[in-house]
Amino acid sequence: MSKISEIYGSSVFDKRTMREKLPSATYKSLLKTIDAGEPLDLDVANVVAHAMKEWAIEKGATHFTHWFQPLSGTTSEKHDAFLSPEENGSAITSFSGKELIQGEPDASSFPSGGLRATFEARGYTAWDPTSYAFIKDEVLCIPTAFCSYTGEALDKKTPLLRSMGALENQARRVLALFGENPQRILTTIGAEQEFFLISEKDYAAREDLVLTGRTLFGAPPCKGQELEEHYFGAIRPTVNNFMKELDEELWALGIPARTKHNEVAPAQHELAPIFANANRAIDANLLTMEKMRLLASNHGLVCLLHEKPFEGINGSGKHDNWSMSADGKNLLDPGENPSENLRFLVFLTAVIEAVDNYQELLRMSVASAGNDHRLGAHEAPPAIMSIFLGDELGAIMESLVNGAEYRNAGQVAMDLGVAVLPNFLKDNTDRNRTSPFAFTGNKFEFRAPGSNVNLADANTCLNTAVAKSLKGFADALENVSPADFEAAAISYVKQSLTDHQRIVFNGNGYSEEWEREAERRGLANHRNTAEALPSYIDPKSIALFEEFGVLTENEVRSRYEVKLEKYTKLLNIECRVMKRMARRTYIPAISRYASDTAEGVARLEAIGVECPSQKELAKRLADGIVAAAAATNELHELHTKAAAMQDKQQAADFYAGTVVPAMRKLRSVIDGLEIITSRDYWPAPSYNNLLFYV
Ligand code: ADP
Ligand code: MG
Repeated sequence: MSKISEIYGSSVFDKRTMREKLPSATYKSLLKTIDAGEPLDLDVANVVAHAMKEWAIEKGATHFTHWFQPLSGTTSEKHDAFLSPEENGSAITSFSGKELIQGEPDASSFPSGGLRATFEARGYTAWDPTSYAFIKDEVLCIPTAFCSYTGEALDKKTPLLRSMGALENQARRVLALFGENPQRILTTIGAEQEFFLISEKDYAAREDLVLTGRTLFGAPPCKGQELEEHYFGAIRPTVNNFMKELDEELWALGIPARTKHNEVAPAQHELAPIFANANRAIDANLLTMEKMRLLASNHGLVCLLHEKPFEGINGSGKHDNWSMSADGKNLLDPGENPSENLRFLVFLTAVIEAVDNYQELLRMSVASAGNDHRLGAHEAPPAIMSIFLGDELGAIMESLVNGAEYRNAGQVAMDLGVAVLPNFLKDNTDRNRTSPFAFTGNKFEFRAPGSNVNLADANTCLNTAVAKSLKGFADALENVSPADFEAAAISYVKQSLTDHQRIVFNGNGYSEEWEREAERRGLANHRNTAEALPSYIDPKSIALFEEFGVLTENEVRSRYEVKLEKYTKLLNIECRVMKRMARRTYIPAISRYASDTAEGVARLEAIGVECPSQKELAKRLADGIVAAAAATNELHELHTKAAAMQDKQQAADFYAGTVVPAMRKLRSVIDGLEIITSRDYWPAPSYNNLLFYV
């Protein structure tokens, strides 16, 4: 396919296009903004805006929008035409520098967690020149940050950018100690996206899927994933056509979609891009999810991005492959000489320290109603944060902590005094799927995020926590004389690893043993969103965010409020849908089948035929209806209680601890009846239909 290189980036105003379309002086000053973060002046913005508009119109665009990421977690856009009417009745196209760098969407309908009182509804969007503008469906989209007029961040991008800046500043100090002065230090992300594809027809017949994104009912299918035939299996033609179209659209948007394959569960798939600068990678992931949803319908499919669409079947995650890069050099690469090895150990240790110190915060960053069904469900990592280092690195860590000489299997002795690592580390292929945070050779893979999440929160927390560890190192080592640096650095690393070794766990994260062991080690285990969210507003978290200028206390509290509210709102909707479906769909259908069965019994008995099985069935159905009605009423009572609670945290706790079990109970009654009710009477497609639709 020679076409890829033609398609790739064709809808993006990237550096290549900038160079082609901009006067060279403008191009150079824009580059300074993009690469070195220098402010952009309005004259330059005017020239850029004009060139962007001409380019976009040439490509068929008619509108522009400031594309941003409000706290709801999705993306938002409002389209304005490139239009400026003239007095004589004609119109010219226009797009000014001011329109490029600043917009003013009506901010009042976006969640702000009380940050922006409704009378002060104004918020503005500000161009983020470090993520390229692109054309999507005849609209020039300009990635922007979204803030209130008092300067508070109302979005997910702003804190992410601030956290990247915080990490860059601290990493710069650390690298300076190694005699390195890179221009730019970035965090990099490769987001592996999992998703389900089901048929549009089946989807439309399931109220629960349409309204909540997941099935609230459904008996297990006759066949699950036990044959392990789906993973990496041949991709079905319909799915293949979808993937092809998706790839091409993503490539045009400059998104390096690379790997696609079937996942473990039936109807589940994965798409992974090549990693990029975190800010762009997150924008790209949001666009990828949008394209997945939209393009599926061209193929009679629906793409489910919910973390757990089907009970008993693996859920979907979004693995956050994460590293730090200094002018393109990966700082988590073990390197080839002693100095690189030591640098690697310092950065590795900083991450270990960060994950241990801020484990609750990281857990919080991936908490959502949907992800609650995944974490700790023996298919995804547990809700306990821990780090997998692998055998080699784990052994190296232990020798460092114990001051012992390290010998690997090949008997390569390592003198830890001069920090020379054997370079086989790069072939660290040991994959522990049960670990939430695994070192995979030259990056970490944070596996806890759910498929539907905007990765900005997780990365904001991670970057800030790592910035804090790096700051600790720099503060301690900046006053040491260069001659003593190496020894001092090694001893710092040793101390830090000793203090934080409890977070390292190479065993089976699914086992109950680990839960007990983790408790002994004092690691947090927040089983659901209601338990996890309060860590956000813990004084320790607020202090961290404030120390690095990533979030103010107000901004933290507002985000906590928004997450809490989203959680209770989602559960409120799920309860409503469940009750409605039980009362209006399932119970009536089961009743019809019960009475038809009873009528059959009466007719047979009228002609003197004994029919004990039908009689027994009619009885089971009738009893089932009683149980279903009782479970529905119980859910109704608890739901009403929850919905009336004023205190949102209290409501969330009540949902998680009391309402969710009642939902589970109702579901199990209905699911039990599904498998004894004739399919002719069953009012919704079953798991067999949904998961094995072709
Ligand atoms: P797998 O996990 O299937 O072995 P890879 O290790 O190649 O696949 O990578 C998985 C994801 O991690 C890909 O999206 C890849 O681009 C990304 N990745 C690789 N190196 C880095 C890095 N230095 N920083 C961030 N992501 C990375
Ligand atoms: Mg992977």
